[in-house]
Amino acid sequence: MSVHAETRPLVTPLPGGGSGLTVTVEPMITGTFSSPAIIGSSPVGRVGTLKLLQEARKEQPPIPIPAFLIRHPKAGPILVDTGLHPSIASDPSKNLGRLGTWFYKPDLEPGDDVSAQLRSKGIDPGAIRLVILTHLHVDHASAIADFPDSTLIVTANEWRAATTGLFPTFRGYRRQQIDHAFDFRTVDFEGEQVNSYATFGRTIDLFGDGSIRLASTPGHSEGHQSVIVRLKDQDMVICGDAIYLADQLEAGSDLPGLMADPHNYRRSLQEMRLFHQQYPESVMTPGHDPAFYESAPEKFT
Ligand SMILES: [Zn+2]
Repeated sequence: MSVHAETRPLVTPLPGGGSGLTVTVEPMITGTFSSPAIIGSSPVGRVGTLKLLQEARKEQPPIPIPAFLIRHPKAGPILVDTGLHPSIASDPSKNLGRLGTWFYKPDLEPGDDVSAQLRSKGIDPGAIRLVILTHLHVDHASAIADFPDSTLIVTANEWRAATTGLFPTFRGYRRQQIDHAFDFRTVDFEGEQVNSYATFGRTIDLFGDGSIRLASTPGHSEGHQSVIVRLKDQDMVICGDAIYLADQLEAGSDLPGLMADPHNYRRSLQEMRLFHQQYPESVMTPGHDPAFYESAPEKFT
């Protein structure tokens, strides 16, 4: 299917910045997948795909699907990724398709979707002004439909990868999740507003105050981005799927088997490893690490 939704370029800096502002971040686990494709080093190539399909029949340990609530003192509540859509609790194939449901083996308890968790924190989902999407894979874009009033920020490269080309399912996308007449805004890491920040070569300062930066970290998907925020005493990098597990920040650890672009993946990983080395006190969130989210505080401040 082709996508009718349209995008416009994001113009930065957005209003709402202020000097010296810091934010807080609350991770929310919005269900799990038990799929062989998500974690670890799986084999690549055509043989790899066959092996992966064989492995998809076996029961895998569930991996958490996080989204993040950023509270900015002037710009308000901001969401990073959307997690699994509430309908997945009762009828997953509607949102993920039948093949996706079979492959990913989703599990979502009613009340664990992002909108329900926001409401339990006293935030009306309609009050979320910005949704930053690290990328558009199904476990990050699934609940986009719940944010019709938000501005949704995605890289231009990711939008292109998700909405054009053949076999989106096999590249981790489901166009029905994305195809809404919402306010999608694209960022382009080639533009004038792009600067380096610490070890990251290409970043965009969202409010012009250094409180929230988008960082180009392609490779896991074509147009993947991470989000660097300023907490009170240190930075926090919401890495997205640029790393799955915390120990991938250590040199010499295994690379995942599934990457849209292995060369870019390694380059992005290197930027994150160097950041971790230079700022060991900074928080870096892995995409799907059960141990990390089990021990994470409710709120990073
Ligand atoms: Zn992904």
